[in-house]
Order: sequence, then structure tokens, then C-alpha cells
Amino acid sequence: MTVDDRIPFAVPDIGEEEIQAVTDALRSGWLTTGQNAAAFEKEFSAELGDPSVHSIAVNSATAGLHLALDALGVQPGDEVIVPDWTFTSTAEVVRYCGATPVIVDVDPVTLNIDLEAAQRAVTERTKVIMPVHFAGLAVDLNAVAAFAERNGLRVVEDAAHAHPTTCNGVRVGLGSSDCIVFSFYATKTMTTGEGGMVVTRDEALAKRMRTMRLHGISRDVFDRYTSDKPSWQYEVVAPGFKYNLTDTAAAMGRVQLKRAGQMRDARASIAARYLEAFADLPVQLPVDAAEGSSHSWHLFVLRLADEAPIGRNEFIEKMSALGVLCSVHFIPLHLHPYWRDSGDLQESDFPVAADAFRRAVSLPIFSAMTDAQVDRVIAAVRELLG
Ligand SMILES: *Cc1c(COP(=O)(O)O)cnc(C)c1O
Repeated sequence: MTVDDRIPFAVPDIGEEEIQAVTDALRSGWLTTGQNAAAFEKEFSAELGDPSVHSIAVNSATAGLHLALDALGVQPGDEVIVPDWTFTSTAEVVRYCGATPVIVDVDPVTLNIDLEAAQRAVTERTKVIMPVHFAGLAVDLNAVAAFAERNGLRVVEDAAHAHPTTCNGVRVGLGSSDCIVFSFYATKTMTTGEGGMVVTRDEALAKRMRTMRLHGISRDVFDRYTSDKPSWQYEVVAPGFKYNLTDTAAAMGRVQLKRAGQMRDARASIAARYLEAFADLPVQLPVDAAEGSSHSWHLFVLRLADEAPIGRNEFIEKMSALGVLCSVHFIPLHLHPYWRDSGDLQESDFPVAADAFRRAVSLPIFSAMTDAQVDRVIAAVRELLG
């Protein structure tokens, strides 16, 4: 087999329409944040199902999570509860604010934050909880809202995997959390290459995030050139950041947004095939969403059982030899030297994440996958574990 025959772990689903939209944006003469970004924000709110929510386009989900914590006033001395089973961004942005991430274990079935572990971690310094909708299966947001209410906390959802996802009949993005942050990184469920979106219902938070997104300037660059005030006039009201999304990226995002549902359905049918094909193997399969909720199927994560004939690392090597590239989501935070040492984290405090890490493998699941590629993944997994 040649290298070219191998099935990649993830490929962005970019068609002619995206290419045309980016080309048009390039030809328009306006490259930075402008009409495309403004339209993308409006269309994002509309696609979620509520044009009245504020969608704020940013150049990454990491930037969006930072803006959300900043707008909520997170500062040195504060604590923010985050799950162990996530990408480093979720904890990193807490450090950007000079605050302390308090890392807690996850649920053994969903690998989403364990609210009982979170309850034990609450102190008088705790300000925010940041649940992650791992793989695209939502945390029970009713339970999160009750938890936040009981403990007097704010909620920022790391929804990097969760567009489009529904929780208890409500689209992720439209619930009661203070801010919900989506990622458009190249391998996510829809992409702008790099990018993200923060959604909030709170006018004051939206205003603060829009200002801080662009240097703490009171009007964004585009407004400067379209409103009737002189274009050179602006005021810096805070030491902000450089987190705005380019119009070229937004042009791509507007097309991807229209296709997000269809791309999700393509991943869901791959997931359905995997769930059926692996039902008799020595693996723990991911669970689908309960009635009234839906799964984005951003990731398909198997966990090898004790009875599996090979371990996780050997499985990934052999899958690669069979032409299927796999990955691992995630290396839990407590195993990374920085988080382990700065938080004095012990493996024994994260029994679920530690066990899941030894077993977890992410299989390819992307909307542009062909049926023949899905067949080959299934055959390879069955050859190694069947
Ligand atoms: C990808 C990811 C992020 C970061 O997204 P960017 O857009 O790359 O900044 C944050 N959290 C989780 C859980 C992710 O998977």
C-alpha cells in the first residue's frame, strides 16, 4: 500500500462553493473583518434558531473562551472548574486571566465533566464552570444550570465539538449558559481554517467581548469605514486583544454553516455503521444522544476492553500499518507536565480519565469519507479485535 492509499484521520470538507466564496472575498478588496464576518454572525444566530442571540466571530475558540472569561470578570485569585478530559485550551484561557483552573474527573460513560467531582471542587473562590461537550455529545445542560445556580457560578460552555448538537430539545448555543464557544479549526465539524464563535444572550457581555476582540477599541474597524463619523476617529477603552475573524475566513464559514447539518448527517451515518459493526468486539463503544438530544459525531472514540488482544498503542500502530490513521482524544490534562506540576495533580484524583486514556482510540469520522473508506476502517478494526 502506498502512503496515498492511507485513510487520513480527518479531512476538511471543502467544496467548490467555499472556494468560490473565498475567491470572491479576495477579489472584493476587503480582507479583514467586514461584511462577510457581520453576515456570518447573523447567519450563525439564525441557524441556531434564534436571531436575537449575539454571535461574535473570533479567530479561534481559544480566543473566544478567553473573551468569555474576561467579560465575566475572571481575575487573579478566582478559580474556574474544568474537566480533565479536554484539550489544553480549556484550562489555558483561565491562566490568561491570571486565575486558577481546577481540574476535575469525568463521567465514565460520556467522558463529560462529572458534576459530583465538580461539587467537591467548589470553594469560595470558584467563579465559573466550563463544561466541554466531548466528541459532540452534550453535557446535561439542565444539570449544569442547576449546579451553577446552587453554587452561584457562571457557565461558559466549551462547545468546540458541538455544532450542531441538541441537548434536551434545545440547540447547544441557545441554553441558559452565559457564553457558548464553538471552534472552526480545520478538523472540527465545520471550519474556517482557524476560527470560532462566541454566543451569548447577555447584551453587556456581548458588548465587552466585541470591544475586547479588537484592541479594546470602541468601534470596530469596519464601522469606522462605514459610519458617518470620520474614519480616523476611535477610542481605546481597555487593553484589548487581537481576536477578530478575517472576511476571507468568514466567507468560508458562511458556506460551511449552510452545509453543517448535511455534514453532521454524513458523520452520523458513519457512526451508525461503526456502532453496528463493532457491537460484538471487546470494546466500549461511545453512546448516542438520548431521546430529545442529538450528537454532532465530531469524534468516534472506542475504548479497548481488558479482553482486547492488544493494547491501545499497538492497536494504533497496527491500524496505521493497515492504512487507517487514528488519533487519541484526549491526553488528559493531568498527564501534561505543566498542568500536573502547576496543579500538583495526582493520577489517583482522576480514576476515570486515567483509565480511559489507557484504552481510548479515535477512529476516522469525517463527512467526506467514502463508503469504501468506512468499509476499510471496519475491516481493519475487526481484523485486529475480532
Ligand atoms: C479544538 C478545541 C479547542 C480549541 O479550538 P481552537 O479553535 O483551535 O482554538 C478548545 N476546546 C476543545 C475541547 C477543542 O477540541
